[in-house]
Amino acid sequence: MARPEPALSVVVPIFNEEAVLPLFAVRLRATLDELGEAYEVVAVDDGSTDATPAVLAGLRRGWPQLRVIRLRRNSGHQAALTAGLFRARGAYVASIDADLQDPPELIPELLRTARAGGLDIVYGVRNDRSTDPPFKRWTAGLYYRLVRRLVADTVPAQAGDFRLLSRATVEALRELPERAPVLRLVVPWLGFPSAEVGYARAERAAGRTKYSLSRMVRLAADSVINFSPVPLRLATWLGVCGVLLCGVLVIIAIVAYLRDSTVAGWASLYVVVLFLGAVQLLCLGLLGEYVARIFGAVQGRPSYFVSADSDDAGELPPAGG
Ligand code: UDP
Ligand code: MG
Repeated sequence: MARPEPALSVVVPIFNEEAVLPLFAVRLRATLDELGEAYEVVAVDDGSTDATPAVLAGLRRGWPQLRVIRLRRNSGHQAALTAGLFRARGAYVASIDADLQDPPELIPELLRTARAGGLDIVYGVRNDRSTDPPFKRWTAGLYYRLVRRLVADTVPAQAGDFRLLSRATVEALRELPERAPVLRLVVPWLGFPSAEVGYARAERAAGRTKYSLSRMVRLAADSVINFSPVPLRLATWLGVCGVLLCGVLVIIAIVAYLRDSTVAGWASLYVVVLFLGAVQLLCLGLLGEYVARIFGAVQGRPSYFVSADSDDAGELPPAGG
């Protein structure tokens, strides 16, 4: 079972990408073959329902370096990436989307940068998103601002999941107890020396985005809530403000009472009651988000299941010890 450890693994999460896979494979293979080093490609089929499994099976027949991991259900981009990372054996592990928005041709440069500087992490940073639709650019900008503000300013802006990790980084990730980490936040948080390599984000070569608005909102919520108690603290501060406001209102009420003009004031009372009710519900909901995540963590259910017909379906044991 023990295969020689390749110099480089490339992890590719794939969900219903029948349209771009053949072209992606051609460009990736040309790049990696030219590298002249031992490599493997770990394709993670995230429960695709189109012809993706057949396309992958066809590719694998003529490409011995390709390993296909299949997840039993669609588990999402981050889970698919994690499944691939933990099954990659390379001394360095790159991750890249299958839709050709991230150029496979940049992988050798990521590798060179890591080796030249003795670095553990090299981020592909999208310094040109002009091909993305304005709405995506706007939401992405908002996301990185929020994350850098609330989570950590060590998170490189515009660094998605196109990056290169050293074996040490992958092992460190594996030792985390988290089942479904948001990788683009956890990776910088590990504190390994890193560098960035810029590139222009291309348009999707074919097919459509798998990130619906609701998935983007979920990624953003996970990013902040899994990493930061700041929203809870905001709730506390909101409570403090509410108390101060009440103090002011009480003083006004007393003054009004002393002046014998207590009949008026229905509208302000109404507004204050509504406002406080809304704030309480909001904070309760916020608390619920944290409780739900604690619940999920306590249950400890895996975030994905690897199908038995995968190549080497088992996760590698951690290297430590
Ligand atoms: N993907 C996946 N599982 C999902 C959704 C997406 O593995 O549930 C893969 C998808 O095939 C692609 C990558 O994750 O290789 C990024 O997805 P996409 O290009 O749709 O996201 P966008 O670039 O629009 O943010
Ligand atoms: Mg894409």
